[in-house]
Amino acid sequence: SSFWPLSSTSTQEKLLGGLLVPGFDERSCLSRYHSAFYRRSMARSPSAHLIKRLREHEALQRRCGPGTEAYRAAAARLGSWHGGGGPGGDAPGACRYLVLVPYRGLGNNILAMASAFLYAVLTDRVLLLDRTTSLGDIFCEPFPGASWLLPESFPVRDLQNLTGEVRESYRYLVQGDAPAAASVSRRRYVFVDLDHSCTYHDKLFFCDDERRFLRRAPWLLMRTDGYFVPALFLNPAYQEELDRLFPRKDAVFYLLAHYLLHPTNKVWGLITRFHDAYLRNSDERLGIQIRVFDGDTPFQHVLDQILACTSQERLLPDVVTQEPQPPAGARSKAVLMTGLSSWYYESVRWKYWQSATATGEAVSVYQPSHEEHQLSGYTTHDMKALAEMYLLGMTDKIVTSGWSTFGYVGHGLGGLTPWVMFRPENHTAPSPPCRRARSMEPCMHGPPFYDCRAKQGADTGKLVPHVQHCEDMSWGLKLV
Ligand code: GDP
Repeated sequence: SSFWPLSSTSTQEKLLGGLLVPGFDERSCLSRYHSAFYRRSMARSPSAHLIKRLREHEALQRRCGPGTEAYRAAAARLGSWHGGGGPGGDAPGACRYLVLVPYRGLGNNILAMASAFLYAVLTDRVLLLDRTTSLGDIFCEPFPGASWLLPESFPVRDLQNLTGEVRESYRYLVQGDAPAAASVSRRRYVFVDLDHSCTYHDKLFFCDDERRFLRRAPWLLMRTDGYFVPALFLNPAYQEELDRLFPRKDAVFYLLAHYLLHPTNKVWGLITRFHDAYLRNSDERLGIQIRVFDGDTPFQHVLDQILACTSQERLLPDVVTQEPQPPAGARSKAVLMTGLSSWYYESVRWKYWQSATATGEAVSVYQPSHEEHQLSGYTTHDMKALAEMYLLGMTDKIVTSGWSTFGYVGHGLGGLTPWVMFRPENHTAPSPPCRRARSMEPCMHGPPFYDCRAKQGADTGKLVPHVQHCEDMSWGLKLV
């Protein structure tokens, strides 16, 4: 097949065009330097400025991260804090932190990690992950010589239960009478709630000019379950820097994910064994990601939608009723299906077993797992979910289910612009069943509806050309 043989993959390719640094122990995290062997080429290359900023950020994580004197002092101040202004986070050289509290499914978690990381880079904060999730078991450490996992001894407890109602909440800072900048230094930490249920005031965070205001807060704690990068592109404070980091706006998630997300060896084993056994030797690979939000039982209208989409978009061949003459040199097409149920997979597989294809192609259909129900925080379940998202990204073309963050990660990791199946309403397959998306970027589900420049409500899908409404969610925003 068209994959590069190991020996010809140069160092530059192995390091994904300078996105990664050499020097990590290869065996402790095989995916880090081996993923290039499983990809034909990078869909997008990192800009020189992105590479420079990543190296600076790594130095920051090393200088201020867990285990350093700076971290110990900052955590101690947070633990023993009892009101009143302390040394602010805006002192020169001060270490400042962003603690991410991800929640909900793994797709949500991954989008949150990529978004929080970009925010941390833009604002010079050390990114630390709450470890109540299984993220530490399924991903390798991304930063050389520094851990991104929040130490167990972190003085703020029960992070998963923080909500926008806590008095440290950003919403009260911007609602308060005192000048916000002054009240930042009177807070133990600032909590930013970006949950779906967050308020108008919480979302003013997206207009915040960190350099003048939140910069005083050494500790920023953030709860989010989604991709908020499009909103950062609407904030005038970051526009110039984002332009330099990402000359091509459609590859932000792709590049951040390839920098940050390296599956641990156990997950990498799931990925590579499946790939080598079922996908590698086909002439073409199609991914079909099925996510049904109306319950875990199989639905005929969802199957109808999958078949209509793949047929109309010529992603899968039609079948014939007559037994054909065996064609010479038939092409092979592998279909990787993912989903909680195996019924859709069984139906598609039977279709191509029962009848010959009109094109003579041999269609093989696979599904790695069928977990039946969504669980969260179970390591084996999450390992399978990650392996499947990653495998979806190793296909050549992909059909995804609208609204699904699992699907966004699958096509985003692969650098693939998906065909998105619209979410069915009233248990009927929508018409058209699917549409080619405009870019490989994930959709932001709970965007702000506020123009930071004009300081008034606005249609945020109309402010700049590269932030538009999503195909699958009319009010969502995505980079194109
Ligand atoms: P979303 O709910 O579709 O936005 O995606 P999430 O990944 O955030 O949450 C869904 C969760 O359900 C996943 O993390 C998995 O735990 C599980 N799940 C959903 N679809 C699949 C699938 O195709 N394969 C596997 N293994 N798990 C899935």
